[in-house]
Parts: sequence; structure tokens; C-alpha cells
Amino acid sequence: MSTTRVAFLGLGIMGSGMARRILDAGFPLSVFNRNPDKAASLASAGAEVAPSARKAAAHADIIVSMVADDQAARAVWLGKDGALAGAAPGALCIESSTASVGWVSELSAAAAAKGCEFLDAPVTGSRGHAAGGELRFLVGGTASALERATPVLSAMGKTINHLGPAGSGALVKLINNFVCGVQVASFAEALAMIERSGLDRAGALEVLTQGAPGSPLVRTVAARMTAGDYTPNFFLKLMAKDLTYAIQEGRGLSVELATAAAALADFQRAIAAGLGDSDMAAVAEPLRRR
Ligand code: NAP
Repeated sequence: MSTTRVAFLGLGIMGSGMARRILDAGFPLSVFNRNPDKAASLASAGAEVAPSARKAAAHADIIVSMVADDQAARAVWLGKDGALAGAAPGALCIESSTASVGWVSELSAAAAAKGCEFLDAPVTGSRGHAAGGELRFLVGGTASALERATPVLSAMGKTINHLGPAGSGALVKLINNFVCGVQVASFAEALAMIERSGLDRAGALEVLTQGAPGSPLVRTVAARMTAGDYTPNFFLKLMAKDLTYAIQEGRGLSVELATAAAALADFQRAIAAGLGDSDMAAVAEPLRRR
């Protein structure tokens, strides 16, 4: 059993697997989720379930948040029941949610004002990687804070990339997901074109998935789109959020992410069709419908 006490905030698709890895690695763990039902299996496995983020953080050396977006992160970190209200000076705060660089900077400053250290450490990988401890962490912050975090991050991931000062991990994550979102949307459009043309679908898809456009992501979503399996690994609405944040960051750097904007329009059309809580691969469905 480690003596480093960890608090984990947010037990969704990713957070539930990540928290379980921390527990299984022998760290004393307290957890908080807005909907407490999602904490039940971790409670049976030995985690302490706290009624607020503040209480979860109260005795923690390291506090990790893995929630939907900026708004959710603000809710779990700030305010009278937020984690920073309970965090002891010297605690290390880690934002692993895919969030905007603006939010990460604000949180970093708020943590410093409490005498806490801070890292942004969003991840690549999905549900299976989270459950299996195979995530990649994209880290911004000081080398000393990362050294302190490494045993806990290593319980959840197999690769850690230190990308620069606070905010660097968040920015690389948004750039990464901008490229991913464009790939998924462009493949969805290609699939609709193939299906409407009367081409042999299997033959055409073999060309795309086995050839140059066949990235690991394209291959994954191609299988899901052709099977019509949209059980969520990554909620479609969260990809729309990531593209929105990436476009904002691009604007701040005077880079127009025109392809991200086009992809976002496809994701927004799918959300309008009621598919926001499906897997992101469902972006193909409105394009396929006549
Ligand atoms: P998810 O299953 O939808 O979980 C979202 C979490 O955020 C839940 O714990 C939810 O609590 C919480 N939350 C949402 N709004 C909140 C609010 N206003 N106040 C407090 N808590 C709130 O999503 P996920 O897939 O685990 O994703 C979590 C983060 O990881 C996101 O930033 C996502 O972009 C990123 N990410 C996801 C993947 C993936 O493949 N899924 C991969 C890499 C990164 P409730 O349970 O109470 O709703």
C-alpha cells in the first residue's frame, strides 16, 4: 500500500477506469462523482466515496479531475464544495479533463493561490486504454511536479509526454483532437459517398482503411460505422466540445482551423439529430440518411 493519498473527481467512461487503476495499484483513494451511483463499484473495491469534491480532496496528496469540459471542471474544483476549498497547501492538483487552455491557466493560478502545485495532464486513448492502464498523458507543468505525479500517472498510463509549462498538455491535446475530429468527419463523408454511389462498399473501404488514409482512428471508426455500433467509447458531444475549444485556441494564435470548423458542422448536425450521447462514430448517420 502506498502512502500517497489520491482523490479522483469524475467517474465517467474514462474516470471510472482510471480511478480503478489507482486503487488497484495500492493508493488510498477517495472519489467523488456528481451522480453518486457511478461510485458504487469503486466503493465495493475499497475506495472511500465522498459527498463532495471538497471532502474527497481534504486528505489527499494528489487530486485528479477527469470530467466533461470546462464547466464541469469549474464545478468540481472551485466554489465552496470544490476540491480547492478542501485541498491542503502542498497538494498536487492534476487536470486530466480535455479542457481549454484558458481554464487550465485559471485553475493553475487558483491552485497556486492555495499553495498547491498544478499539472495539466489530459490523455489520449479511450475506454479500453483507461481500464487497462494504457493511456498516454500529455503533461504541462514543472518537472518537479511531474516527478511527484509519475507513480500515480504510471498506474493509469504507459506513456508520459512532458510538453512544456502549464497549459502545454491542454493545447497539444486540443490540437490532437482537432486532427482526430477532422479524420472522423472526413471518413464519415467518404462512407456516405461510397454508399450512395453504388460502389462495392467492402472493396472501396479496403482501399481507404488499408491504404494511406487508414490511420488507427479511421480503422476503428470504419468498423463501428459499418457495423452501426455506436455504444459510446467517446461521446459524440465531447468531440464537438474539443473541436470548439481547438477552434478558439487557433483563433487566439491567428490560425483559422477551417477543417475543424467543417468537421464541427458535421458533429453539430449529428447532435441536432439526437446523437450527442452516442459514440462519435455516429457522426456518419445524418450523412448516410437521404
Ligand atoms: P463521461 O463519461 O461523459 O464523464 C463525464 C464526467 O464529467 C462524469 O463524471 C460527469 O458526472 C462529470 N460531469 C459532467 N458535467 C458535470 C458538472 N457540471 N459538474 C460535475 N461533474 C460533471 O466522459 P468521459 O468519456 O469519461 O470523458 C471525460 C473527459 O475525458 C472529457 O474531458 C473527455 O473529453 C476526455 N477524454 C475522453 C476520452 C474517451 O475516449 N472517452 C478520451 C480522452 C479524453 P456525472 O456522472 O454526474 O454526469
